[in-house]
Amino acid sequence: MTLGRAGQEEWGRVKLRLKAELGEDVFSSWFTRVNLESCDNGVVNLSVPTQFLKNWLQGRYRDRLIRICQDEFDAVRNIEFFVRGAIRPLGMGLGDAEPQNVDMRQINVPPKPVPRVVAPPSASENREAEDVLAGSPLDQRYSFDNFIEGKSNAFALAAARRASDQRPGEPVAFNPLYLQAAVGLGKTHLLQAIAHQARAAGRRVVYLTAEHFMYRFVAALKSQSALAFKDSLRAIDLLLIDDLQFLQGKQIQQEFCHTLNSLIDNARQVVVAADRPPVDLEAVDERVKSRLAGGLLVEIGEPDYDMRRKILNIRVAAAKRAFPTLVVSDAVLDYVAQNVTASGRDLDGAVNRLVHQNQLTGEEISLDMAELALRDLLRGKETRRVKIEDIQRVVSKHYNVSKADMLSARRTQTVVLPRQIAMYLSKTMTPRSLPEIGRRFGNRDHTTVLHAVRKIEALSNADRTMKELLDALKRQIDA
Ligand code: ADP
Ligand code: MG
Repeated sequence: MTLGRAGQEEWGRVKLRLKAELGEDVFSSWFTRVNLESCDNGVVNLSVPTQFLKNWLQGRYRDRLIRICQDEFDAVRNIEFFVRGAIRPLGMGLGDAEPQNVDMRQINVPPKPVPRVVAPPSASENREAEDVLAGSPLDQRYSFDNFIEGKSNAFALAAARRASDQRPGEPVAFNPLYLQAAVGLGKTHLLQAIAHQARAAGRRVVYLTAEHFMYRFVAALKSQSALAFKDSLRAIDLLLIDDLQFLQGKQIQQEFCHTLNSLIDNARQVVVAADRPPVDLEAVDERVKSRLAGGLLVEIGEPDYDMRRKILNIRVAAAKRAFPTLVVSDAVLDYVAQNVTASGRDLDGAVNRLVHQNQLTGEEISLDMAELALRDLLRGKETRRVKIEDIQRVVSKHYNVSKADMLSARRTQTVVLPRQIAMYLSKTMTPRSLPEIGRRFGNRDHTTVLHAVRKIEALSNADRTMKELLDALKRQIDA
């Protein structure tokens, strides 16, 4: 039986217990982005945003989760994790790939992880230190050579090159360098290009995703080697942290802040990347934000036609190495570059799709075929990101209540309903988590948001006028 929405209540209780058992810090580091998707035949299905988080939770918290779920849900035997949105990457073994299971955002050729050690660990015999210097895996294809320059990223590229040339002991031009861009615009590519380049010049470089940073720190705390961990981080020349928006947990941030301060004070280069500016890093505390804002902030914009066309050339060349018989005409590439406009990731997805279909069916990659194969990618391009502020503005205008009232503690019906509707829309129209939404609505608890979401959902199921109102509000917000 699928519990669907009904299971959310049980899941809410599971999370409360996790928080109580593990403490706020560990909980917020690992569990705030775990969603209950369903509960079928005694299996609780949980989704997470990244493979990393999946492995981590499976390795560390599986038994605990099963135990708690068995207490809170009826007749639970097991739990399963899966990665939201991402399914199987398109690999070499196309023969056994099921088309609907291919994650179209992946790149044609599977990444070839290179040895993770960016610079040999110092003389220290300390295992933890080696562990830290190992960093997250790097992808060889993400080099400066493979990075297409254009108006939207020229400044970021120049800054990245400069950071990769930074020599220990020399005055640092800007620190930290903060790269900001929406998904798929090349942040990871640039960070890893810096790592490759600086490593080749013999510098001690650590590239870590924010999640890996948290993982290492929590692991170090557990094994009581936190001091060694900090020392080893401070012994490096260049620290690169990717996807900083995922950094969570008070203690972890304090540690990050110490590391940042100490590296910067010692003229070591720090480069971070995130999908939003420092002020919008909701889970990050003020001290960290102000230190981040004190460096150089560079935004990467969307690639123009010329850049897109060049990125496509690189992708097709890579695909041809994997599938030598592949033929993609210039006309098709022009068409893709004209129509797939949002990001490098979408371009990867487009090439993936074409190659995949071609290899699976033998169909020639013609314009007609491309048009059909890319239809939903192109449809998706109209969707733009909705902001919680837009939702609050539209809803408060519709109900003629002020935004201040909406965010206040007032509980009169005239503000409660608009507030709940705005919370509901924030949950359904943005990728924000319940705690984040709670914070944005006058620092309310996530259970309050959950309650609002359920209530409005129930109302809209029961009452057609409510459903119509929600649709009308959504259209205004989207406009
Ligand atoms: P982000 O980390 O910002 O989400 P990525 O660095 O993962 O984005 O980029 C997504 C894909 O697009 C990668 O395959 C990357 O190589 C490619 N890409 C993005 N920008 C460029 C560029 N300017 N030149 C070449 N490839 C790019
Ligand atoms: Mg990235």
